Parts: sequence; C-alpha cells; structure tokens
Amino acid sequence: MNILILGGGGREHALAWAIQQNPKCDRLIVAPGNAGIAQMAECAALDIEDGGAVASFAEENAVDFVVIGPEAPLAAGVADRLAAAGVLCFGPSQAAAALESSKSFTKEICAACDAPTAAYGHFKDAEAAKAHVRAQGAPIVVKADGLAAGKGVIVAGTVEEAEAAIDDMFGGAFGGAGAEVVIEEFMEGEEASFFVLCDGENVLPIGTAQDHKRVGEGDTGPNTGGMGAYSPAPVMTDAVCDKALAEIVKPTMAEMARRGTPYRGVLYVGLMIQNGQPRLVEYNVRFGDPECQVLMMRLGGQVLDLLIACAEGRLAEARVNWADDHAMTVVMAAQGYPGAYDKGSVIGGLDTLPEDSMNMVFHAGTKEVDGRITASGGRVLNVTARGESLAQARDRAYGMVDAIDWPQGFYRRDIGWRAL
Ligand code: ATP
Repeated sequence: MNILILGGGGREHALAWAIQQNPKCDRLIVAPGNAGIAQMAECAALDIEDGGAVASFAEENAVDFVVIGPEAPLAAGVADRLAAAGVLCFGPSQAAAALESSKSFTKEICAACDAPTAAYGHFKDAEAAKAHVRAQGAPIVVKADGLAAGKGVIVAGTVEEAEAAIDDMFGGAFGGAGAEVVIEEFMEGEEASFFVLCDGENVLPIGTAQDHKRVGEGDTGPNTGGMGAYSPAPVMTDAVCDKALAEIVKPTMAEMARRGTPYRGVLYVGLMIQNGQPRLVEYNVRFGDPECQVLMMRLGGQVLDLLIACAEGRLAEARVNWADDHAMTVVMAAQGYPGAYDKGSVIGGLDTLPEDSMNMVFHAGTKEVDGRITASGGRVLNVTARGESLAQARDRAYGMVDAIDWPQGFYRRDIGWRAL
C-alpha cells in the first residue's frame, strides 16, 4: 500500500513510525515532513491545505491511503476533496471538523444531545459579552470562537481580566477567530484526554493521555503547544471512560450523523473530571501533539489497520490489541519558546540513542543542514519511551534527554508528576 501522511511535526513522525511497522505499508510519503521523518520515509513539498494539490499528488503517486495529521487541512476541506477524487482518507469532512474549528458549534451540539459540559454564552459584540461576565462573576473562561492555535482561551480569575480579554478578542487580537466569543463557566477538576476512532456510526477507544501545557516546572508560566505527555492517564479509569463514551462521545456522534454530517476520524475528547464525573472541555478533530507520540508508542503497527478500518467504516469489527504498558514523551524546545527563539542551533548526540519499539526520538521542528540536525522551530524534539511502569518510561525518556547535546534547548524535568 502507498500511504501519504500530511503534516511535519512530532505527531506525524510518530504516525509515520507506527504505520511503517505494519507490513501493509509499502511506500510511505510525508508532506512536508521534517529532518527526522526524512530518515525513515520520503518527504515531499506540497501545500497540504490545498485539497486540489493534495488530490493531484495522490493520483500521480498512486497513493492508496491519506492520513491527515493537523487541523488546518481538515478545516480547509482536504478530506472532502480527497473523497471526491476517490482517494481513501483518514480525517473528518470540513463540516464535521467544525467540532474543533467552532467552539460555539460544539457547545450547540452538546446542548442538543445533553452532553455534560460547562454552561456557556455565545456573543457577537463586546458589550453583551461583558454584561454576561458581570452577571456571572469570576473565575470565568473567555474563548475566541475559531481556531487560534491553542492561544484563544483566557481563564480569567477576575471580572476585570475577563473584560480585558473580551476587548482583546473583539479588538482583533486573534484575527477572524475572535470575531465571536464563547464565555464559559469555570470547571474545576483534573484534565485528561480520551482518544476514540469514529467511523460515522461506531466508536472505538484507542487510549488516554495527559499533557503539560505550561512551559515551566510545577505547571507555571505561559501556555505552550504542550511540553510533554504520558499515557495512560490514571484519572481515566474504566468507569470514567465508559461514562465519557455513554454521556458525551456517543451522543455527539449520533447528533452529527442525525444532522447529515457524520464524523469519521480520530476524536480528541478533552475532559475535566471531578468526583468521577467527566465533562467536556473541548473536541479536537485530530490526534493531539504530543499526545499522539505516546499513543503511537503504545499501539505500534496495528494503528494502520485501525485507521483504515475507521476510514472504510469497518470499526464494528476492529479490535485494539492492548499492552499493559506506559509511555512518556518529553518535549525539548528552543530557549525562549513559547516567545521568540533562535533557529539553526546544532543538535548533537542523537546518533548515540537507541531507536526501537521502547525508545524513540520523534522530531518536530528540525532541519538537516550540511548533514547535521538543526533546530528550526519552537518545539524541536519529542523524546519518547515505553515501560512496564510510568516510572520506567520516564527514566528511559530522561536517560535519552540527558544524552542529547543541545545547549540552546530546554525541557521540563517533571513530566508525569501528577501520575507519579
Ligand atoms: P488547545 O487546542 O490548546 O487545547 P483550545 O484553544 O482548543 O486549546 P480549550 O481546550 O477549549 O482551548 O481550552 C484551553 C485550556 O483552558 C483547557 O485545556 C483548560 O485547561 C482550560 N479551560 C478551557 N475551558 C475551561 C473551563 N470551562 N473551565 C476550566 N478550564 C477551562
């Protein structure tokens, strides 16, 4: 089978690594890829948000299956364009991708199917939004309605802070994403993510994870795309997973199908859990990054069969082969991230590290220059390991981190603290 993966981060490196272990994979192309992916697959320059260009590329290269990694091509309708061209594709339609690209849409779906989530208001002008905040009081959560790369959410401790966030959003701080604003009740509890495959009708859980959004140890400092993750999440007991499926995921999928926009792909279910009761924080319509890295480490080559079964609508007969193990990934980022950072520093020591089913360094922002791996982004490496316990996975991952020679990088030493 010829397979094309769209994307070029740590998530896509992990997907490529797992997919390539499956004997069904003959040729693997990743667009655009990165320096780590280039060591194991073909990389191709391609505008991955241009559905026509992706469909032509797939045709020219006899691609049998396309896996879409990031949200932008999904929101741009690339899956629809591939479906129209008759190319099998993993990833939801543009209409179904609204579960991530519009927060008010998700809230409306939750209301229609009675899924537990924060109470909310949806506003198109600042004065009405502020009046709502004053009536509700703080803490309260202010969100830009559209895609804002994880930056369009302000958890406000005071009414003044919430009002300032509303002014920023309507003032254009998040471009079009902030033209409408959702204001939510602040939910207390522990956050975790739950990953399920959906084929429009059937739902198959494929794992749980927790990540670390803040840049600093002890969960301090500004938010990032994620500084590390581990799987499974202890808070996601079987009972909590069952409740999340029955009360949130399955009703949402049924409502999407009822509206004529069935959801097909992976659904990232962001949950807040308090006293064993999960409530929805958000949906993402793709794997999380870096959560994907720990899921792929645990699932390995079977993931290709699962993604194909999902795309072909055959999830009813699919089974996950579970291993009773743990995985952790530690993100190494360029100093300065999530603010301004330098590019181009050389990363040494990578060729001394083991790369096998227990240990893997997934690349995110890297570029090969004159035969050397250099940093080309904010988040640069995802140092990932598996173990019989989370402590063993952690020790392996940090053992590799310590062997990497990159003085211009930094990482958190406390990934997994909550579970350990
Ligand atoms: P990302 O894609 O980075 O996860 P996002 O922009 O899609 O972020 P959300 O996931 O909706 O935004 O919110 C970001 C974070 O803000 C959540 O992970 C959670 O920690 C916090 N948060 C969001 N909504 C609430 C809420 N109602 N109560 C408490 N915390 C919340």
